[in-house]
Amino acid sequence: MIRSFRLRLTVWYVGCFAALFALLTAGLYGVLSRALTSRLDESLLSQAATASALFQDEMEETRNDPAKSAEEAVTNMRLRAGKVAVLDGARVLAASGPFDAVAAARLSGGAKESAYSIPGARAAVCRFSSNGRAYVAVAAEPLDAIETDLAAIRRAMFLAFPLILAIAGAGGYWFATRGMAPLDAMAAQARRITGSNLDARLEIGDAAGELTALADSFNELLGRLDQSFDNMRRFVADASHELRTPVAVIRGEADVTLAKERSAAEYKESLAIILDESRRLSRLVDDLLNLARADAGRVKLQAQEFYWNDLLSECCRSVQSLAVARQIELECRCAAETPFWGDEELLRRMTLNLLDNAIRYTPPGGKVLAELEGRIDGVRIRISDTGIGIGADAAAHVFERFFRADKARSRGNGGFGLGLAIVKWIAESHRGAVELASRPGAGSTFTVTLPR
Ligand code: ADP
Repeated sequence: MIRSFRLRLTVWYVGCFAALFALLTAGLYGVLSRALTSRLDESLLSQAATASALFQDEMEETRNDPAKSAEEAVTNMRLRAGKVAVLDGARVLAASGPFDAVAAARLSGGAKESAYSIPGARAAVCRFSSNGRAYVAVAAEPLDAIETDLAAIRRAMFLAFPLILAIAGAGGYWFATRGMAPLDAMAAQARRITGSNLDARLEIGDAAGELTALADSFNELLGRLDQSFDNMRRFVADASHELRTPVAVIRGEADVTLAKERSAAEYKESLAIILDESRRLSRLVDDLLNLARADAGRVKLQAQEFYWNDLLSECCRSVQSLAVARQIELECRCAAETPFWGDEELLRRMTLNLLDNAIRYTPPGGKVLAELEGRIDGVRIRISDTGIGIGADAAAHVFERFFRADKARSRGNGGFGLGLAIVKWIAESHRGAVELASRPGAGSTFTVTLPR
């Protein structure tokens, strides 16, 4: 098995060329040898006809003496390499040399004029009658002359064959090398691309023809890789940044508390702060883990049948105390039974994230409404609030990881900017979608549509 593509191309090329060349030369050789034979046949037929004419003339002169006439006719024929004979039935009347004229005449099969092969020679017969008797004139010539010509041609072909193949091979290799040059250039450029310069692109110009499509595809792949590397770097940077704050608070609190003897109340207060930050930290780690698993495609939906109306009212009950604490009116419209097939825990998480946001971003005295709409083709969950709303610029990014429209306020509220990214992932993992309609100051409505 040849590993070099260049060499393989050349071998194929030479192989095809050799087959074609062999076919062509064999065809030409056949045509030539047939042309030479038919020229000989024509000459032999004319010799046999001449012999018959001479014989008939002599018959008149010798007053019907076949033996003498045949002798005269044969003698008068001036032949270079051939032989001629006149037969009376199966009897040779006269022959210009020793050859089996009787067998030759028989081989002709009784045709009036015909040419055919006899061992090592070609022969032609001409049947005629004189004074009511049937005679045959036979002319024959050895194939030596034709064989000599054909042997010379064969020699020339055998000599030319390897020479032409060598030239074709060299030419094929040169063309293959030229054709592969853009590929070599691409490979060299690709080797220089590493994780640190994924923004580099292959440049091969328009000259490479079909390879341009390959380079374009490779460049698109690089673009996607670059984008996901970028996302990953940003994700890691944002995650580290978010993790730093609670860790710093916990460490700082512990450092300060342990710096001197404290009262039991002070220790209690410090531990409460540490506990609070630890909860935040563990929520962040959970969110990060979920998103990382989702990216790796390792989250399997634990699908089961449940009632969306039950799930939504349970979620509302869970956040009721938070709403009360913030003096927000929470209403849940989910009366009709709405069975659904999906991952109940993930969908609960999604709903809680939306409700939690709606309450956190709505000032005291505001209202949050959770609605469920069962449809033939799926369900629609709508969480609307009369809160601070989201501007058009921010609305385009709220579903991105670590995005916070108002960083200071959101962090103060305990958010990391991951809640909506998780909502979007959960909706999409159920082949659904989430939409946002919002106006700053007038509140926001998040609508999740899930197909059945
Ligand atoms: P966070 O944990 O910071 O709330 P989210 O991903 O849940 O992160 O939300 C991203 C950002 O979208 C929030 O920081 C906030 O600015 C904005 N946002 C989300 N929900 C609402 C809402 N109901 N009303 C106003 N702004 C919202």
